[in-house]
Amino acid sequence: MKLLVPVKRVVDYNVKVRVKSDGTGVETANVKMSMNPFDEIAVEEAVRLKEKGIASEIVAVSIGVAAAAEQIRTALAMGADRGILVEHDGALEPLAVAKILKAVVAKEQPQLVILGKQAIDDDMNATGQMLAALLGWPQGTFASRLEIADGKATVTREVDGGLETVELRLPAIVTTDLRLNEPRYASLPNIMKARKKPIETLKPADLGVDPAPRLTVLKVEEPPKRQAGKKVASVQELVDKLRNEAKVI
Ligand code: AMP
Repeated sequence: MKLLVPVKRVVDYNVKVRVKSDGTGVETANVKMSMNPFDEIAVEEAVRLKEKGIASEIVAVSIGVAAAAEQIRTALAMGADRGILVEHDGALEPLAVAKILKAVVAKEQPQLVILGKQAIDDDMNATGQMLAALLGWPQGTFASRLEIADGKATVTREVDGGLETVELRLPAIVTTDLRLNEPRYASLPNIMKARKKPIETLKPADLGVDPAPRLTVLKVEEPPKRQAGKKVASVQELVDKLRNEAKVI
């Protein structure tokens, strides 16, 4: 069984994001970039399926600037077999990414695509769902547990009220939640080995997709600064402040 794992290059989660002075977006120049954390979980899950003998090949795919090859290399060092970089130097919306992934699915014929539930840069939480819709495949989103057997995927989903378990006929789409697993660190020998694994480079046009954005970002702003807290001496004083200063009770 072949698995496809899309991995996105994003600003590292430890970096304090700064808004560009002209309000057109966030600063990415000279900022540490990494694989989207939910995609690391997706790669880890794919590698575990390979280790269990369920998956035979893992293909990591990234859509973005040439440097996104670094994130593919990270996936290869974690255990993916080969990579595909769809090079595009410009804004990418989930629909464009989903259309490109649909074309990659047509080319690679995977039985399962494991994506992150959302990319931590623009928090869209849309690509997996859009890809499922474009392909007409079943989807199990926000997976906290995944089992594959008898041509079916059983996905335990984290929903507001607790856990929901769904059964999907393969081929299918799964998106990862935080508690699915804890991704491994790539060992030095595996980082060295990953250098020799192949990465194919394509352009969106090679896949017949025009990735031009359909939305215009009007303005990006910093959230308002939080005001410093106040210490109170008693519950009575707290209630008094909530009632008379904050006027929330
Ligand atoms: P989003 O819908 O943008 O929040 O992203 C959800 C998931 O879609 C991510 O966790 C990735 O698995 C995948 N994805 C989104 N954008 C890209 C991209 N440019 N390249 C590869 N995968 C992507």
